[in-house]
Amino acid sequence: MTVSLVKFDGSLDSPRRAIELCQGFKKLGRNDRVLIKPNNCFRHRIMPPYGMVTTSKTIDRVVQLLLEHGCKDISIGEGAIINIFDELEPYTKRGFKGTGIEKIEKKYGIKLIDFNQGPFHELDLGGIKVEVSRAALDSDFLINVPVLKTHFQTKVSLGFKNLKGCLSKDSKKRFHISKRLDTLICLLNEAINSDLVIIDGIYMLEKGPETLVGVAHRKDLIIASPDIFECDVVGATILGIDPAQVDYLKEFAQRHGRSFDITAIQIKGEDIDSLKEQLEWRFEPDEELLTPAKVTGISVPHPGQTLCSACGATLAFALSVFGKDNPGMDFGGAALYYGLGLKPERGKEEGTRPSPTKVFLYGDCAIKSNKGLQNVNNEEDIQSLEVFLIEGCPPTLTKTLLALMKTLLNKPRMFRMLLLRAIKLIGIRLGIYQEIFPRWERYRSKEFDKTHF
Ligand code: SF4
Repeated sequence: MTVSLVKFDGSLDSPRRAIELCQGFKKLGRNDRVLIKPNNCFRHRIMPPYGMVTTSKTIDRVVQLLLEHGCKDISIGEGAIINIFDELEPYTKRGFKGTGIEKIEKKYGIKLIDFNQGPFHELDLGGIKVEVSRAALDSDFLINVPVLKTHFQTKVSLGFKNLKGCLSKDSKKRFHISKRLDTLICLLNEAINSDLVIIDGIYMLEKGPETLVGVAHRKDLIIASPDIFECDVVGATILGIDPAQVDYLKEFAQRHGRSFDITAIQIKGEDIDSLKEQLEWRFEPDEELLTPAKVTGISVPHPGQTLCSACGATLAFALSVFGKDNPGMDFGGAALYYGLGLKPERGKEEGTRPSPTKVFLYGDCAIKSNKGLQNVNNEEDIQSLEVFLIEGCPPTLTKTLLALMKTLLNKPRMFRMLLLRAIKLIGIRLGIYQEIFPRWERYRSKEFDKTHF
């Protein structure tokens, strides 16, 4: 099949050309039930959306082209991660509103589907039972519209990874705690067929998946293909990440006899060599979230793949706030462990990190997988270790912040932070205060255009 590479110029012509070049609508019937799956999986409304979620501009253009084609039954579906920022409104709905997709519903009279509301169909993926949205399985033509971004666990998050949003919330968690994330992403893409993939590359994200750590860049590119494997191979190559090192693509290639030879892929439109970047996908959470605020003495070792975005996003947000409110402070040796993969042992941490004296087990997974550490404190090397549990699946933002404040701050400082946070929260709710973290200053530049959302 063909992968098209087309520069995005803001007009309807660029997505039209991208779809035409790869014959993306060749198999699309006018009476087909069409489902568009953007990446709108999580984002707090104050977080810059660039490179993190699909632009509503792209979705709007795709809907226009579908209507031109004569399609009548068009839906947009997503299942956002829930229960992370203590807010009550359903997350998918809030995501649709926050990124402007809700306006598309009204403009064209199409349907928005919140996958989290079900119904689901149970599938067995390599012995693991998961619930997949029926709307995704039952559509006649699924258009997968991810963002061009890197990911700190899976290296890239493109077409393959975007389908994780079709799972129920418990199944999303199961993908991580099964310790078989890459295999399950591969198998999910065998169960759900993407008929057309359109990678929204108006922006791309380095150190993704979110903009608390991630750095967005303007790219103005559309990558499209009816072949999800080739589309992701081209997308990863443009990001500067070897697709053969992306484990779920590697597994898919082995299972289906596919090749990573980019010269064997028919690419139409722009020259791929002129588009290649060298973006970083790796990062250490503490270095990115606390070092900029000159906060020292707290380590947050990389959790590996056994961490859901729900825990990752909440903790990233909490650490960003905590660092911002306590700049230049040294907390003397605390460590936060999350996900299933890490076993804190005093004096036995890897690399150059100092041994912690206080350990936070963050989230039910870390608590369950470190039961021994909570009960037995008589070994010499962990004798002086204090262990604090932050329960939840995931813990809420408020609970996380309170636990950090109570444990790491003295009383006057804690009350000061509580008071300031309460005032800021009220300001945010009333729309008169905007929280800005230092790395978000870049989004004031004109290349980041709010009207794309
Ligand atoms: S505790 Fe966190 S990492 Fe574990 S299943 Fe719940 S959300 Fe996922």
